Amino acid sequence: MRLIDFFFPPKCVSCGNTLKSAPKRIHEKGGDALCGECRAEWEKAKLEQCRFCRRPMMDCYCSSPLMRRKGNNVLIKLCAYAGEPKGTVKQIIFTLKRNADRRAELFAACQLHSPLSKYISKYLGEDLYITNVPRRFDAYSKYGYDHAEILARNLSRISGIPYLPLIERVREGKEQKNLTVEQRCENIKDAFALTKEAEKVQGKCIILIDDIVTTGASVNECISVLKRANPAAILPACIAQTTKTFKAEND
Ligand SMILES: [Zn+2]
Ligand SMILES: [Zn+2]
Repeated sequence: MRLIDFFFPPKCVSCGNTLKSAPKRIHEKGGDALCGECRAEWEKAKLEQCRFCRRPMMDCYCSSPLMRRKGNNVLIKLCAYAGEPKGTVKQIIFTLKRNADRRAELFAACQLHSPLSKYISKYLGEDLYITNVPRRFDAYSKYGYDHAEILARNLSRISGIPYLPLIERVREGKEQKNLTVEQRCENIKDAFALTKEAEKVQGKCIILIDDIVTTGASVNECISVLKRANPAAILPACIAQTTKTFKAEND
């Protein structure tokens, strides 16, 4: 046991219970930020079957109906989020958004690295870059960081794929949470612009990271903006995809 773990016993980043055995480094196999119970719930969420392709969520590339309407057919993800008020998926996303917890950040990045590296294996030999959907200004000033950027930067460290801040927010818009699909599209329109780094990605492949994809309005808008830089491909990836709108719109 490390001395620091003795004085500050590591806690599960989801339920807050003290971890019985000290976690290994998160990069190591079995290294964990979750207690056994929360880890089991997390693994179950990753294996939930997609009702369209029938694959487990972590192997499913189905995008949202709104994304498909724009021809954005692929969305890499780890798990589904059905909007339940409690639970490990909700808690991890909540922690990433609000607590700047380093263990949660590394855990999420290591987890997302697995389906991502499987998908991008077909892009071997291509020049890849990682970027993120920028956070809203008000949330950024409230919490002091952009969690999608931290996720993207951690993924960059783990995978060796360089991170570039390619998109910047130029307009705030309203909070998306309570808006309809149409309102979300209108709200997010022209909210983003390319940074000057974007000149580096012509003909390259870009991995676009977000934490949670609900309708896909923000991801769609970021993809439209990124296309102006003439990349060869854009691969959106997220921790969780909301199944509520996913289902409602398909029914
Ligand atoms: Zn726990
Ligand atoms: Zn699917």
